[in-house]
Amino acid sequence: MTRIRALRTALLVVGLLALAVTAVPAQAMRLTEPERTESTRSRCLDPDGVHGDGRSASRLRSPDHPEVTAAEKQAIDGRTDRILTSKAEIADSAAGRGASIPVQVHLMLSRSGEGDVSRLQIDQQIAVLNRQFGGHESSEAANTRFTFTLAGVQRYYNDKWHTDKDSLRYRARTRVGGPETLNIWLVDFSALGIATFPFQYDAQPKTDGVRVHFDSLPGGSLKNYNLGGTATHEIGHWLGLFHTFDGGCSRSNDGVGDTPAQKYPTSGCPDEQDSCTERRGVDPIHNYMDYSFDRCYNQFTPGQSMRMAEMWTAYRA
Ligand SMILES: [Zn+2]
Repeated sequence: MTRIRALRTALLVVGLLALAVTAVPAQAMRLTEPERTESTRSRCLDPDGVHGDGRSASRLRSPDHPEVTAAEKQAIDGRTDRILTSKAEIADSAAGRGASIPVQVHLMLSRSGEGDVSRLQIDQQIAVLNRQFGGHESSEAANTRFTFTLAGVQRYYNDKWHTDKDSLRYRARTRVGGPETLNIWLVDFSALGIATFPFQYDAQPKTDGVRVHFDSLPGGSLKNYNLGGTATHEIGHWLGLFHTFDGGCSRSNDGVGDTPAQKYPTSGCPDEQDSCTERRGVDPIHNYMDYSFDRCYNQFTPGQSMRMAEMWTAYRA
């Protein structure tokens, strides 16, 4: 067992061992992305509770990544372990080192230029990423050692692309770089953000990246969601993390041992919340992978940091 695997095993909940081992598909996984439909939106809560902003009434950080079943998660973990074993030397030397990630920002503007953000906002967003992935917002936060450097900014003027229509096509036509390059498309849609996972890259390399609402950048107009936390959340998925409430109160939960089980997403920023009273720990409402307000966010855990490092080595290094 490599060091990175040994560390992760120590972090995983013991209950995972009780789960039956299923066959692991050899092929890269092709997952279906969530559709932005009216029925999807109408199921969303109003996390704000305030309807002053028409757009915020239907806004939630959900659903923002392809659905992954429990069986698929087991298959992904098995595949990741096999890749890490085959890359044992790299995995051991890369353990906990993070990586320097080049960032390509694509501004998907309307024909008349709506949806633009300033260079200052982009620089501030990159600074937020470096602060949050660096563990600088809480004494409990892990330093993931992932750092972000702006590599390019492109502007496109297309009404369809601006509203995230034809996303498969526009991503394929504009994406820059390989698996190690983070592409962020800034659009105007009903979601806050949508991400792809690292284990999808083999099957769907052309659409890899995150889509983020342009007004969620620092200084944007989305009330409670304009401090840059949305990009951090989506990049957490891009680096292989699930939501902290994924799997609910089950033992396996989100596949990370040091994020307490959580039954449902957090709305706003409550003083405290414990939705799985039968499990140890209160809800991780300050975790970047919950649905809390931006100002509520302040940490990734060491277990999440380890999972991101593993995912990076397996799929993006
Ligand atoms: Zn999410």
